[in-house]
Amino acid sequence: MSSSSPVVGVLALQGDVREHLVALAEADALARPVRRPEELAEVDALVIPGGESTTMSKLALLFGVMEPLRARVAAGMPVYGTCAGMIMLADKILDGRDDQETVGGIDMVVRRNAFGRQNESFELGVHFAGLPDESRPVHGVFIRAPWVESTGTGVEVLASLRTEAGVDHPVAVRQGNLLATSFHPELTGDHRVHAYFVDLVRAAGN
Ligand code: GLN
Repeated sequence: MSSSSPVVGVLALQGDVREHLVALAEADALARPVRRPEELAEVDALVIPGGESTTMSKLALLFGVMEPLRARVAAGMPVYGTCAGMIMLADKILDGRDDQETVGGIDMVVRRNAFGRQNESFELGVHFAGLPDESRPVHGVFIRAPWVESTGTGVEVLASLRTEAGVDHPVAVRQGNLLATSFHPELTGDHRVHAYFVDLVRAAGN
């Protein structure tokens, strides 16, 4: 791949695909939608958007991309999941549907709709470790968002939120080439998280 502009797909089965395509282009990637295994084979990396993880999971099985995606993740392809995409990257989920499958790859337990009872949707400044201009918080848009309930030893926590119960829950994590956030940077004009991911993709390709 060209080290300057990697090809980054956005899983386009369901969810806020267009916003990610725009954010990735702003972060100097060549962004394109991915629905089929042939399209997945052509990208250097993938974003799994926000949306509804139960539907996305069903469609991934229907379109035959679930297994190829698992294989690419196992082979080290960088993937960034936002919200429903975070759920898709979790090795284990809580409050999922009984038949709900994930791609997996990040050694974490993620709870769907975790903020639900306190607050369906909210926006909040989030301190995100390792971003350029790190002291400036990321504008976190949380929409029926999941949180991370627990992580394995290989998982780096990049951002956390304290809940009303006074417990800190990770809302941004990284394990190797896999990145996940509970919130939606693609819905803000701030593309630092996408730029962080595109840098990770470049580093993985070198
Ligand atoms: N609650 C949704 C799910 O379970 C995620 C919401 C989102 O992606 N904004 O998939």
